[in-house]
Amino acid sequence: MIPLCCALLLPGCNGHNTRAARRFIDEHVARIAPVAQAANLAYWEAATSGEAKAYDRYAELELQKRRIYSNPEEYAFIKKMKEQGGLKDPVLAREIELLYLSYLPNQMEPELLREITSLSAEVEKQFSTFRGTAGKKRLTGNEIEAILKTEKRTAVRREAWLASKQVGAAVAPDLLRLVRLRNKAAQKLGFRNYHALSLAAGEQDQKELDKIFEELYDLTNAPFFALKQQLDAELAQRFHIRIEELQPWHYQDPFFQESPMLQDVDLDGYYAGKDVKQLAARFYQGIGLPIDSVLIRSDLYEREGKNPHAFCTDIDRAGDVRILCNLTDSERWMETMLHEAGHGVYSYYLDRSLPWLLRQEAHAFTTEAIANFFGRLSRNPWWMEQMLGLPPEQRLKLEQVSGTYARLKQLIFSRWAMVMYEFEKELYADPDQDLNALWWTLVEKYQGIKKPAGRDEPDWAAKIHFTIAPCYYHNYVLGELLASQLHASLVKSVLPEGGGKSASYVGSVQAGAWLRSRVFAAGALYPWDEMIKRATGEPLTARYFVAQFVN
Ligand SMILES: [Zn+2]
Repeated sequence: MIPLCCALLLPGCNGHNTRAARRFIDEHVARIAPVAQAANLAYWEAATSGEAKAYDRYAELELQKRRIYSNPEEYAFIKKMKEQGGLKDPVLAREIELLYLSYLPNQMEPELLREITSLSAEVEKQFSTFRGTAGKKRLTGNEIEAILKTEKRTAVRREAWLASKQVGAAVAPDLLRLVRLRNKAAQKLGFRNYHALSLAAGEQDQKELDKIFEELYDLTNAPFFALKQQLDAELAQRFHIRIEELQPWHYQDPFFQESPMLQDVDLDGYYAGKDVKQLAARFYQGIGLPIDSVLIRSDLYEREGKNPHAFCTDIDRAGDVRILCNLTDSERWMETMLHEAGHGVYSYYLDRSLPWLLRQEAHAFTTEAIANFFGRLSRNPWWMEQMLGLPPEQRLKLEQVSGTYARLKQLIFSRWAMVMYEFEKELYADPDQDLNALWWTLVEKYQGIKKPAGRDEPDWAAKIHFTIAPCYYHNYVLGELLASQLHASLVKSVLPEGGGKSASYVGSVQAGAWLRSRVFAAGALYPWDEMIKRATGEPLTARYFVAQFVN
């Protein structure tokens, strides 16, 4: 009797669950979609006008959103649906999964959440008001950067570098308190620590990331240290010291995360007098992903009171996609325009017949990958030749310098990002360990920079990302790796024979169609790792990044 009973019951049970899940999602979307759209619009208004009223409205709407996602009964229902399974429709199951991931991090105890939010706002404020001092002089972040870029006297560089770390000592006690609070909240939700919870909420797991980072470490190790040796020899000569005497303040930024400036690259000159908006519009038109409807709604030029940075936002998941920029005729803004428009085409060319919950990118880093993929073109000699109408001899000149520059930039950044990833993992795994020592052990291992003798300060805490964007930094690296993996796939399957090295993508309608159908269209229908496998035929790997920039 029992098997028969089960056999009879199960389909009924599934049918019931399916109907209940469907009803829940419909009601949820009817509530959340208008609030999300209003919040996006308020943010847009705030960023374009700088008006306090708009910021207040945005904060209020964000709170409304959070109230919806923190509802414990709804969370319990979604969790039950997810765990009981039996949802035969894969689209419906995926919607439940994404809902679960949105509710999960918002289930922290309200009291604890309030404490975390106000403490992190407090530390962030310390960051924005703190000024390091060198001698009697208070230095802004920009002044410190300028000194490290150009100053010839070692003593002045040292003072500036030390000033850049003083904020670390000032915020470290509060930051550690924040880390412990975040851990406590995560542990109450059944996670090992906050790092594990953050990864889970982004459908990532540590083993998977460790594997990718180890691969990247192995493949970049020898080339990085060879390059660093060259760089160190140059620096030692510049400062008239022996290589062994080089200190962290001899590099050109406080964390050695950027490539040093090369005197012979002036890419801005190539864009002087050019209309970078038109160039982007023409390029995207040429690959069959026109951005006119995005540009019409965008806000692209500098204005008093306006946000001075750049971003792209999908207002309604129904085609209202906008870009904020502060364009000038420079290479940096050409890159930014291509980058933001990359986010834009991803959102705009999603399959709009997908249900609302799936009408978003597969992951924050997959849209970053597309943005990087296009942003890289602003210094691609073949792209510049075609889009700017350069004579071939100028392209040849560019080829010589831009390759070296890209290699330096990517190698240095990837080694720095390994420090960030490893340290943050350890920070949450055991906040009581000797973090000052751990930081320098990792800096030496990955970046080849030695700790100044006798130094025992929380230099790690001077990096603002641990405060304002916890457990996120690794996504910058994944975005770069995926951009290269997509490039390699396109070269193999779409671009003409031999198009690899000189791929400019100008006029390649096939490349646009490939990205649209393999990456954009799916939205969040698949988890990011599955989307990448479907698009490129293999899991995310560091190999193509290394092939493109290192070897
Ligand atoms: Zn971006």
